[in-house]
Amino acid sequence: MLNQDEVEALLSANPPANLDDFALSVASPPNSDYPPKVCYELKCKKCGGDTFSITAYPLVAPDPSPYYQVASGETIQRPPHSALCAGCGNRAKIFDARKDGYDGILNGGCGYESGEDNEGLIAGPFKLSVLLFYNIELEELREFAAEKNVQPSSLFDFIEIKAMPGEGEPIFFDYKCA
Ligand SMILES: [Zn+2]
Repeated sequence: MLNQDEVEALLSANPPANLDDFALSVASPPNSDYPPKVCYELKCKKCGGDTFSITAYPLVAPDPSPYYQVASGETIQRPPHSALCAGCGNRAKIFDARKDGYDGILNGGCGYESGEDNEGLIAGPFKLSVLLFYNIELEELREFAAEKNVQPSSLFDFIEIKAMPGEGEPIFFDYKCA
């Protein structure tokens, strides 16, 4: 039986497919609590730059708001999200709730509304990191991954994209994917 550090090391060595467009460096997860977690810092695969803007599909919640913890009039930044490199303009996908993560790969999508038209830009420059959770036994994860021919790390059940501006508070994009 592997301990949690070993599971995290195994998962982080083979990153998930949704981050294929980036040069990744493994960062320490914020804590060692259960479940296993993997954290990556993102760099541009083309120029090596580490500052980005983020794309999203904004929607202003109607009145009454049908969205959990979102008031009417508030803007929801819906997925999918990509990053645009501030240095060279290269575009890289980060997360698509319809295709990525445990439910995206195994169950046809996770329960979030995705945008298709009128993509918006959340202008940076942001430094980006991605935190992934794996709330499942490694053996089971490997079985499912083998069936779908993906890396076990692609079957994360939670993703948090953290966009850190030069000054001020970070912006988080959190999605439960299982
Ligand atoms: Zn670049």
